[in-house]
Amino acid sequence: MKELAYAQAGTVADALAAMRRHPGAMYLAGGTTVVDLLREGVFTPEVVVDIGRLPLREVQVGRDVTTIGALVPNSDLAWNPAIKAMFPALSQALLSGASGQIRNMATTGGNLLQRTRCPYYRELTAACNRRSPGTGCAALDGFNRSHAILGGSDHCIATHPSDFAVALTALDARVQVLGAEGEREIPITAFYLQPGDTPARETVLEPGELILGVRLPHSESARHSHYVKVRDRQSFEFALASAAVAAEVSEGVWRNVRVALGGVATVPWRARTAEQTLEGRRPSAALFTAAAEGELAGARPRRHNAFKVPLLRQTLNAALSGLADLA
Ligand SMILES: Cc1cc2nc3c(=O)[nH]c(=O)nc-3n(C[C@H](O)[C@H](O)[C@H](O)COP(=O)(O)OP(=O)(O)OC[C@H]3O[C@@H](n4cnc5c(N)ncnc54)[C@H](O)[C@@H]3O)c2cc1C
Repeated sequence: MKELAYAQAGTVADALAAMRRHPGAMYLAGGTTVVDLLREGVFTPEVVVDIGRLPLREVQVGRDVTTIGALVPNSDLAWNPAIKAMFPALSQALLSGASGQIRNMATTGGNLLQRTRCPYYRELTAACNRRSPGTGCAALDGFNRSHAILGGSDHCIATHPSDFAVALTALDARVQVLGAEGEREIPITAFYLQPGDTPARETVLEPGELILGVRLPHSESARHSHYVKVRDRQSFEFALASAAVAAEVSEGVWRNVRVALGGVATVPWRARTAEQTLEGRRPSAALFTAAAEGELAGARPRRHNAFKVPLLRQTLNAALSGLADLA
């Protein structure tokens, strides 16, 4: 049995200092990802640094921006009245994920850094470049029904599993982080890395950097946002396809359109091509189909996941139709 040391951080400075003292250590927040992957032997740190007591549990609604602390539980955030009113897609995405019990434990920062549900990533005897660089990707020629049709490479086609991150991507969120070099803010569209030939590097975070929170700009578009998730069963299941959409409506025309897709890509997927198709136009079924077709032009389905192409078309259509009804 491998030994694992536990350290508890009382302050943000303590947390960073512990990471400096123990290179390769791992933060522990709600533990709903970390504990599973420690048990399965996918994570093998020598030290975990528990950040659960840090004062990062507030949702602060400012004049132009709302800041969500890294330790705000997913359930508190989903039911927060200001979040429901100003960012409905965020609340809907959170409530579509996991179960009530898991959402009570899961945190804002932890949700962003949860790991793929690719079964080969979690199976130590399988080739997986994301878990063990250089070993190959068993999913390419294996059972790849749940895998990505967008953003994959010849080294990895694992999907990003977070519903929350998809909504944040449509809402122009920024991730606040603190590390040895000080504090920085990263647009969420630049936070995740597509696998390319280095799938093990999933985000731009430097070793030891701590997520302090997420900042969301206020906008009319965000107030008119909507999330639709399609999965194998109605609860406690990850997305096969999902879409977060937002738009401002002015004289029947859509402006500041935002579209992000989940369940189909290696990162929460900002659908810029679809946005360009929809921007400044009157919503219609034909327009929604054109938006989906444009985005899907770059899709690369595999043996078992070609069904995601029509499924994504329908999912985006449902999300955009829902948005049109709201308007
Ligand atoms: C059965 C099951 C079903 C699920 N279904 C869904 C679903 O349908 N949709 C969905 O989106 N999610 C789903 N999840 C995932 C769940 O949302 C995540 O496990 C959870 O959000 C992770 O948050 P946590 O606080 O528990 O993170 P932890 O497990 O504590 O940490 C996860 C990762 O984040 C790092 N970390 C945590 N906080 C910070 C921080 N502040 N700064 C830097 N690094 C940090 C940790 O080191 C670790 O690498 C499911 C999980 C389970 C177990």
